[in-house]
Amino acid sequence: MKEFKSSDKIELKVGGSVFVKKKLGEGGQGIVYLVELNGKDYALKWYTQPCKKEFYDNLDNNIRNGAPTGAFLWPQFLTVWKEKQFGYLMALRTPEYHDFSHFLLAKVRFASLSAMISAALQISNAFRELHRKGYSYQDLNDGNFFINPQTGDVLICDNDNVAPYGKNLGIAGKCRYMAPEVVLRKNLPNADSDRFSLAVILFMLLFNNHPLEGKLVAAVPCLTDEMERLFYGSNPVFIFDPQNDANRPVMGIHTNAIRRWPVFPQFIQEAFVRAFGYSCIHEPNRREPENEWQKLFQQLRDQTVKCSCGSETFIDTTSAPVCINCRKNLGDPLKLTINRHRVVMFPGQKTYSFHTRLHSDDYTTITGEVIQNKNNPNLWGLRNLTSDNWMITLPDGSQKSITNNEVVPVFKDVQIIFAGGVKGEMVG
Ligand SMILES: [Zn+2]
Repeated sequence: MKEFKSSDKIELKVGGSVFVKKKLGEGGQGIVYLVELNGKDYALKWYTQPCKKEFYDNLDNNIRNGAPTGAFLWPQFLTVWKEKQFGYLMALRTPEYHDFSHFLLAKVRFASLSAMISAALQISNAFRELHRKGYSYQDLNDGNFFINPQTGDVLICDNDNVAPYGKNLGIAGKCRYMAPEVVLRKNLPNADSDRFSLAVILFMLLFNNHPLEGKLVAAVPCLTDEMERLFYGSNPVFIFDPQNDANRPVMGIHTNAIRRWPVFPQFIQEAFVRAFGYSCIHEPNRREPENEWQKLFQQLRDQTVKCSCGSETFIDTTSAPVCINCRKNLGDPLKLTINRHRVVMFPGQKTYSFHTRLHSDDYTTITGEVIQNKNNPNLWGLRNLTSDNWMITLPDGSQKSITNNEVVPVFKDVQIIFAGGVKGEMVG
């Protein structure tokens, strides 16, 4: 088909029309234009190949249901279906978001561990909500994500193949990201295969290498279809499989994974060992649901602190806390325990709604922050950043109410009752 020119008019299904301003880019499936609708700019993805009506109707349905979370660059409007051609409008991606593949090539780096964990949390949460809404994504790969390296904010694009459970629009996925049963053509993509692809993406986000690409894959000069079926389908081997060292990462090729793996707390390593272990690879219904990943990254954030050297580091509760950057011993900071959460009390550390509020799973709203006393930097306190009253009991038995902006002393055995009766305690 011919390309649209500047100021061309395209009709929308809901009525009205958009004006083409310019071409932004081109991919395998279509062309992306900058368009204007009622004075506001959008991106228009226009399919260059004829599409099935079913594909159009599915997108129409997804638009009506709305985006699962703000992380999705979800389709917002369809153009009129004309001679098997159409396009859809979505929000524009701003330049502070970078292609995930650029992170993998080290062209872009996260500003901090916090930003990286935030990206992992947002991706886990986005797929949790997507699956909760009854959808599967079906084509999860490194080309779907754009990330802000400063904040870790994520935008998920290419949501055109998102479909309700049990429905497949003909997409299989991208090799290296497809679940083994999809590679072997035993199954079409579904929520279980999404979970496998999600684990691959999360591993790559943290360790910057592929979880199934170690010396077995490096030894092959050229990946034939047969080899691909072997390494990603019939016999994938995790590079850090504790039971099978056949596919260990190779220094000089998989250096990132070799350097980063030992730095992460044990519970994160264990989660990936499980995700890429024999049973999760071969039994799709045993894969970790997204909310488990979300909990793991919340826990990782609870254990991430900023050392005085300026770098962030993990406090692994199973070993002596040493800064991963300057090797300084960080002592044994107190932890605020709330239900099953253990938040390391260290200056700059934050609590969130899901910690301190009853039945909350809001992981973005900050409710408290550990601060240092200006006159005596060795005195730390947890500032109440909510409008709730927190009732505290000090080790001598005295009680006090801590209101907005007031500070709970960070001492061993201090007990806190947050809003709704949620109980916390500072422990060693
Ligand atoms: Zn340090």
